[in-house]
Amino acid sequence: MSTSAQIGVTGLAVMGRNLARNFARNGYTVALHNRTVSKTHELVENFGDEGDFIAAETAKEFVEALERPRRLVIMVKAGGPTDAVIEEFAPLLEPGDMIIDGGNAHFADTRRREKALREQGIHFVGMGVSGGEEGALHGPSIMPGGPRESYDSLGPMLEKISAKAASDGAPCVTHVGPDGAGHFVKMVHNGIEYADMQLIGEAYQLLRDVAGYSPAQIADIFRTWNTGRLDSYLIEITAEVLAHVDAATGKPFVDVVVDQAEQKGTGRWTVQIALDLGVPVSGIAEAVFARSLSGHADLRAASRGLAGPKPTALSDAEAAAFADRVEQALYASKIVSYTQGFHEIQAGSDEYGWDIDLGAVSSIWRGGCIIRAAFLDRIRAAYDARADLPSLLSDETFAREIAEAQDDWREVIIAATRDGVAVPGFSAALAYYDALRAERLPAALTQGQRDFFGAHTYRRVDREGAFHTLWGGDR
Ligand code: NAP
Repeated sequence: MSTSAQIGVTGLAVMGRNLARNFARNGYTVALHNRTVSKTHELVENFGDEGDFIAAETAKEFVEALERPRRLVIMVKAGGPTDAVIEEFAPLLEPGDMIIDGGNAHFADTRRREKALREQGIHFVGMGVSGGEEGALHGPSIMPGGPRESYDSLGPMLEKISAKAASDGAPCVTHVGPDGAGHFVKMVHNGIEYADMQLIGEAYQLLRDVAGYSPAQIADIFRTWNTGRLDSYLIEITAEVLAHVDAATGKPFVDVVVDQAEQKGTGRWTVQIALDLGVPVSGIAEAVFARSLSGHADLRAASRGLAGPKPTALSDAEAAAFADRVEQALYASKIVSYTQGFHEIQAGSDEYGWDIDLGAVSSIWRGGCIIRAAFLDRIRAAYDARADLPSLLSDETFAREIAEAQDDWREVIIAATRDGVAVPGFSAALAYYDALRAERLPAALTQGQRDFFGAHTYRRVDREGAFHTLWGGDR
């Protein structure tokens, strides 16, 4: 047993415990600390044989167990608890020491904390961690921000414990950018995750209600999709969930679960920040709204009698053809979701001067995280080909794939509309695509209206300057 630790973890709930074990399994001596001391000892009792741990009961013992410069990872509840832990530890640290917040902090909090700790000479690294508890143990995707120099000593450790991309073995971690950049990118990752899950949910609903497939049949369709361009963790687990049968009732598991989705807040933050930055992330917004709509049980109950069509039965051949179309619609909508998410990261990077490398972000999402997918290799290839790509849709490969998918994409939305199945994610994605490609948008009319009622002025297509029309009547 060593007497000094290369890294310490405070906050030993599921994420902190598994991250600490991951460091230890990779040969690092790990100091452990938790507000409730019994959890620290439990970890050592249950997993002490996995590596070198130093159990600390007090903050002072914990800090003293760390070699200098100290690297102290916080894995506690985001918000007030994180501030409380920083307040507890910061006075015990010295200039050059590092506090690494691996929780799901809001990037604005991270910016505030980084600035305050910088004044004390402490490096504060806001670090996004994705992959849930399994990822934390076996290799998460890690999105650290904070001062660049902190990465010199922290980076190699993170590279060891991170996931490795399946296609080339590259570690799924990079220094994302200064101060809150890491938590910002983690936030958008989660927003994209919301959108991905919503799109998959809509595909399921269409296959069930329009094509008439059972959950077990849809599980098989998803398994097939998972061998192609949709190959991803979320498609894989969706097949598992759909194939699962409830032991108590013998019914498909998906039919015994209350259809009200919950959320912790990172998807909502992604949309709120996008609104502030003026970035249209309509797919992510629809996903957040869909979850909140699902939770309005009373409103839904009161609305169930509203008029609408019922799906008409399809023949086996028609259903199979429809399933192929849904795959195209899902893929095209997914391209749009990622396009919107990367736009938000670019806008955040511009706003805060982070200089985020979008290709590097797509690279570190290729393994370990919830949205890991073969698809991300293609996004990375798009940014490798052109680092300043204005939008993923301007990449030749994606533009061609969408062009090929679009007829089916439109047909699927027509079928959903005809049969009365809500597909807000698919529809929002197509609306975004069509609006971007439109020669003229009705925004010209909006400008006319604004000038009419508020003298807000407008610009003309044929002359420079701001114009106002003296509208008729008494105005
Ligand atoms: P959690 O339930 O979010 O937090 C529990 C931990 O926080 C416990 O160690 C608890 O200590 C500690 N804590 C709470 N209030 C505290 C306070 N005022 N002072 C000191 N410690 C306090 O745990 P988690 O699910 O493992 O998540 C940890 C962090 O990782 C969170 O920020 C979460 O958002 C983020 N995250 C979670 C996941 C996931 O899949 N769960 C994925 C990525 C990131 P006690 O034992 O004493 O109560």
